[in-house]
Amino acid sequence: GFKMGIVGLPNVGKSTLFNALTRTAAAQAANFPFCTIEPNVGEVAVPDPRLDKLAAIAKSKQIIPTRMTFVDIAGLVKGASKGEGLGNQFLANIRECDAIAHVLRCFEDDDVTHVDGRVDPIEDAQTIETELMLADLESIERRLQNLVRKVRGGDKEALEQERLLKAAQEVLEDGRPARTVEVADEDMKAWRMLQLLTAKKILYVCNVGEGDAATGNAQSERVREMAAAEGAGVVVISAQIEEEIAQLDEDEAKEFLTELGLEEAGLDRLIRAGHELLGLQTYFTVGPKETRAWTIKRGMLAPQAAGVIHGDFERGFIRAETTAYEDYVALGGEAGAKEAGKMRVEGKTYEVKDGDVMHFLFNA
Ligand code: GDP
Repeated sequence: GFKMGIVGLPNVGKSTLFNALTRTAAAQAANFPFCTIEPNVGEVAVPDPRLDKLAAIAKSKQIIPTRMTFVDIAGLVKGASKGEGLGNQFLANIRECDAIAHVLRCFEDDDVTHVDGRVDPIEDAQTIETELMLADLESIERRLQNLVRKVRGGDKEALEQERLLKAAQEVLEDGRPARTVEVADEDMKAWRMLQLLTAKKILYVCNVGEGDAATGNAQSERVREMAAAEGAGVVVISAQIEEEIAQLDEDEAKEFLTELGLEEAGLDRLIRAGHELLGLQTYFTVGPKETRAWTIKRGMLAPQAAGVIHGDFERGFIRAETTAYEDYVALGGEAGAKEAGKMRVEGKTYEVKDGDVMHFLFNA
């Protein structure tokens, strides 16, 4: 599954957000009730209203959403890269994540201490980014040293790693994150294997006060500008409201949201934004037993997409029957889609689209 690491300075609302995420009615109603893998790791259902529609048409007994993992990574403070405090443990935690949700304090509250004594999300973002850049630089130096002998021996893999590490080192020494390195397609795999912290995509989560949840505020606007300049994602959320909502049942939650002038829970937006940031999309399998969502990377071909369900589906792939979500709904399901010629037969080179209803045929 895909993993988002929640980072941020102390007291910005990370734990409040994490707790809300993993306690929502949606997370609990899902067939995978939220499970605590470790105290700071939780899985949540990716909300998708299309699931209900498909299940209603097919009269499915079960709905199974796709999931995303969140990891609450506490302990990132100034000096963290030097191994103070929790140091290396959480840097390792971040390394394992596919992307970073960076929570920024955009609320004023004199009762909640700010580690640097003022509310400034832009400065906070830089504080954290600086720590991550320093940690990257340190690990790059160490890794370059470890490569010396293999590079001398002409090892191809080592040479590629060295070249990529040096490219990252150069931008980092220039004060820029590793994600600003332009990586050629053929180097992408090796680049990802380096797992540099500042190469990961970022979703800024602006934690605003209750009164600003619907509109955002001046601070969250500043973050929005920064995010736009960097090509990062951004969502505005009130962690406190989300925590309250998480304790309500679905109907109560809807009512509460309407009162606040919100269309949907911020957590739903957060989860979806994470999905988007990671370049993920969803296809469905639909039948009387269950309607289920599956997560794939954008651009995946039919056999790879089938492989998400089971390796045998990919290895023995013959063809897929595919109906676009809109057609499936408009034509009242599989039979109607088939009759109207909207159920297509696709082969190995078909690029699966978001919302496709798929049926795979394979050799066992
Ligand atoms: P963490 O250290 O980043 O995990 O922060 P916590 O989630 O523990 O929150 C720190 C404190 O800030 C707690 O007392 C929260 O109740 C409070 N807090 C979190 N979000 C908000 C918010 O949106 N508004 C206000 N006023 N307080 C908040």
